[in-house]
Amino acid sequence: MKILVCGGAGYIGSHLVRELSTQQGYEIIILDNLSKGHIKSIPKGIKFEKADIRDKTALERIFSKHKPDAVMHFCASISVGESVADPLGYYENNVAGTIYLLQVMKKYNVKYFIFSSTAAIFGNPKEVPIPDNARPEPINPYGDTKFVVEKILAWSENAYGLKYICLRYFNACGAHESGDIGEDHDPETHLIPLILQVALGQRESVSIFGDDYETKDGTCVRDYIHVTDLATAHIRALAYLIKENKSQSFNLGSGEGYTVKEVINAARNVTGHPIPDKVEDRRIGDPAILIAGSTRAEQILGWKRKYNTIERYGLQPYSSTFSWFLIGHWDQRGQ
Ligand code: UDP
Repeated sequence: MKILVCGGAGYIGSHLVRELSTQQGYEIIILDNLSKGHIKSIPKGIKFEKADIRDKTALERIFSKHKPDAVMHFCASISVGESVADPLGYYENNVAGTIYLLQVMKKYNVKYFIFSSTAAIFGNPKEVPIPDNARPEPINPYGDTKFVVEKILAWSENAYGLKYICLRYFNACGAHESGDIGEDHDPETHLIPLILQVALGQRESVSIFGDDYETKDGTCVRDYIHVTDLATAHIRALAYLIKENKSQSFNLGSGEGYTVKEVINAARNVTGHPIPDKVEDRRIGDPAILIAGSTRAEQILGWKRKYNTIERYGLQPYSSTFSWFLIGHWDQRGQ
């Protein structure tokens, strides 16, 4: 099967490409505008098309040239704070861009779609860990863009017979075990890379956005999931979709959460660096606690996290020129 991986040069997309390329039976074509993704993350021998999903002419050219059987869609703007400051840009890229992609899929009769959604669609959850069937109530534009797409997918199935899977995950983290790809955003806004930049001497301190939340130490709780575990969930979801021809949404979480202070402390233990922190105002749009259960993915997809304890720590250099990223942080149980 030919799989078009939109956003395949980005953080999660590039890890998916690594895993998918080890499986039999798939030919991969990467589409990426390289606005955030990295050309160096594309493995040799994988077809690559530089294009933006908002460019429908380019999409048509790529679909007519490669004739994909399925699309995996990772392209998105992903920062909560940025989405609050620029909602129009977020709806344009995340919603309008996805509509163009779906329109071209419909024209070329491509039926299968795997969508990167997020636990941010749930806003301030009423139940934690958030169950798969919780009612989405996003509280920031980023989460809302993803929820809007989920609704578009449901109506598109109803109207055109599209078959899709939404994977709702939260804080992707870690790096590939080879050490040559990992999280590399510019500018960086995510907690773990920012903490590690302090350890590397690239910044003075890390900001804590609010310490007056109703959590055990006052800082926000998030569910950190290793990027390779996310990649394997996508592969299982693709196989399920093709075999069962059934649309479905899955939470991909660990069922556990760590506060901002706990993550900083973990990095202090790993690096031996004092990692100074500075408490600042809350970041607008941040829910206090986001932890996702993944019962449905475990039961239906047979998915299980491989990186699942926080007891042991390590550091993985992934690029001699950029930075270091926590990986052993999610060490394999029992090893
Ligand atoms: N955070 C923080 N300082 C930073 C960046 C993030 O305190 O410099 C907090 C943020 O408020 C959230 C958590 O760390 O509670 C994870 O944020 P991140 O941006 O990494 O991911 P998000 O949860 O927004 O997807």
